[in-house]
Amino acid sequence: MPHVNPDAQLPLQNVEVDSSGTGGAASQLLPQSAGFAITSDLASVVDSPSRMASSSISNVSQLRISEIFFSLQGETSRIGLPTVFIRLTGCPLRCSYCDTRYAFTGGQNCSIASILQQVAEYTPRYVTVTGGEPLAQKNCLLLLRALYDAGYEVSLETSGALDIGEVDGRVMRVVDIKTPASGEAEKNLWENLPLLTQHDEIKFVLCDENDYQWARLIIQQHQLTGKCAIVFSPAHATLDATQLAEWILRDRLQVRMLLQLHKLLWNNAPGH
Ligand code: SF4
Repeated sequence: MPHVNPDAQLPLQNVEVDSSGTGGAASQLLPQSAGFAITSDLASVVDSPSRMASSSISNVSQLRISEIFFSLQGETSRIGLPTVFIRLTGCPLRCSYCDTRYAFTGGQNCSIASILQQVAEYTPRYVTVTGGEPLAQKNCLLLLRALYDAGYEVSLETSGALDIGEVDGRVMRVVDIKTPASGEAEKNLWENLPLLTQHDEIKFVLCDENDYQWARLIIQQHQLTGKCAIVFSPAHATLDATQLAEWILRDRLQVRMLLQLHKLLWNNAPGH
């Protein structure tokens, strides 16, 4: 069950969530009134959510939120760790295997102050901002910074189709590389790859052997081995996990194979 508190003093006027099911330009999702001019103000209050709630910033810096929930991290090197997830509404991609289509539309406007308050109720160490495509909402950058400044270990899960260059460097960036079988490989923003550090991760969700061979080639072409952690995951109920494991061992790949823990535990039910 989503645990989102409505906080709709001001509408998020410039966020247009595509409901066509055919995808749309990322720019459609960008709030043009994003509050970058208030960044310094935000930094002065994010260590105190109660103060922030009373400031004008809480009214200006809003995001469209699909759900906020507490679960075990199902992916990345932090797999298994209790984590609060903030799922932002909207995505300009339409991957063939997408399991969060419910987050393409809907959701509720929440201020950053309200989000911080909801997160704090779980007293977590780890917080993950996910989607949808979180970076499709410009205020995501402010949210990430506010979460880190509030003392959390913060990670961002992004499709790899939007620029990660402005993400706070203290945030762990988990960047997908979309494979041919995803249907969205042409959306990969290759300029993101040189920006990655040891602090970040790359993830390939693989649907078949062609995807696997393609991913190997991408790793070679972009010299990704050693740059940051690389995760291979079989698309759930599409690629046999044992088969993928055998390919990785056969080819001596320096990648980490992960099964999505939340799907094994909760069959991908929303709220987990
Ligand atoms: S990027 Fe993620 S949320 Fe968007 S369509 Fe692909 S799998 Fe779904």
